[in-house]
Amino acid sequence: MAPAPPPAVSFSPAEVQRRLAAGACWVRCGARLYDLTGFVRHHPGGEQLLRARAGEDVSADLDGPPHRHSANARRWLEQYYVGELQGDPQGSVENGTVTSANTQKTDPWMEPKLKMVDWDKDLVDWQKPLLWQVGHLGEKYDEWVHQPVIRPIRLFHSDLIEALSKSVWYSVPIIWMPLMLYVSWSHYRTLAQGNVRLFESFSTEYSVAMPESAFPGLFVLGMLLWSLMEYLIHRFLFHMKPPSDSHYLIMLHFVLHGQHHKAPFDESRLVFPPVPASLGIAFFYIILRLLLPEAVAGTMFAGGLLGYVIYDMIHYYLHFGSPHKGSYLYNMKAHHAKHHFAHQQSGYGISTKLWDHFFHTLIPEEPHLKMQ
Ligand SMILES: [Zn+2]
Ligand SMILES: [Zn+2]
Ligand SMILES: [Zn+2]
Repeated sequence: MAPAPPPAVSFSPAEVQRRLAAGACWVRCGARLYDLTGFVRHHPGGEQLLRARAGEDVSADLDGPPHRHSANARRWLEQYYVGELQGDPQGSVENGTVTSANTQKTDPWMEPKLKMVDWDKDLVDWQKPLLWQVGHLGEKYDEWVHQPVIRPIRLFHSDLIEALSKSVWYSVPIIWMPLMLYVSWSHYRTLAQGNVRLFESFSTEYSVAMPESAFPGLFVLGMLLWSLMEYLIHRFLFHMKPPSDSHYLIMLHFVLHGQHHKAPFDESRLVFPPVPASLGIAFFYIILRLLLPEAVAGTMFAGGLLGYVIYDMIHYYLHFGSPHKGSYLYNMKAHHAKHHFAHQQSGYGISTKLWDHFFHTLIPEEPHLKMQ
């Protein structure tokens, strides 16, 4: 796949117009043309906003309002470069006229490092598996891994291991929902027998009876506990900065989360494959079981398992779905895109911002510039 054709290609306004009429979403920055047709659904600011700009010069829009796009977002746009607009770049492709102020704003685009995505000059060889290579990036790894690209990642040389390291999004509900339902049902039955008491091992006097009416509360508590786990894992495990002299820790970071930041639209490694997921899930169960009676731990575990499935589905949707403007998921999508593109050290919540509030890691709101 070669996302960037040679820069010599040029298009007349009529050619661009024809593509727009056929439903493509092309935009331009000055005379530089970009085909965003494949990207509109993924646009964090919403599909509508971008479609409404089809054919237009978006240089000023990139600076906002409503959103000042990050350097990574600008680099991202370069991957969709298709060529130059022939003739007077001041003239608008569609009927509207373009003000001369736009030429001023295009200046950052003339910076050579932002101009083209040159796959041959990247720090790694994309023709070869990446995992072993990233281990050698050392100090350059952190910056490299946080510059996202649209291409898929090949991690391993072996086809078998490569296949095992991937999973489709629907494997998550298919595998874990039946277990969640079974665990819920069996522990509900145990609670319904009326013999379960909390704190029994500490004192018989103050132990608390756990009837089946406690089931919904325990289940929701389990879901809430998962949302905390989701936050802590993302913040402290996935975003642990590997020491630059340790090849293996860099490789581990890349497998766990770095690959997702490098290739946020590689859907093959967006949700957890069953094997690593079952290790985490077993760990969660063992901790609960050590602290609580079996039926109580089991009910909370079932809630946590549902929380996990919802989390992985939401994460997938935030990357590939196109939620309605103003909806909860629209808000979370913008939040998560900012985590990916600009604020990698904040905004860790995927399904909820609750713990970002609690631990003060919310992404700062953008100062809203007045619309003219
Ligand atoms: Zn945008
Ligand atoms: Zn993500
Ligand atoms: Zn992250």
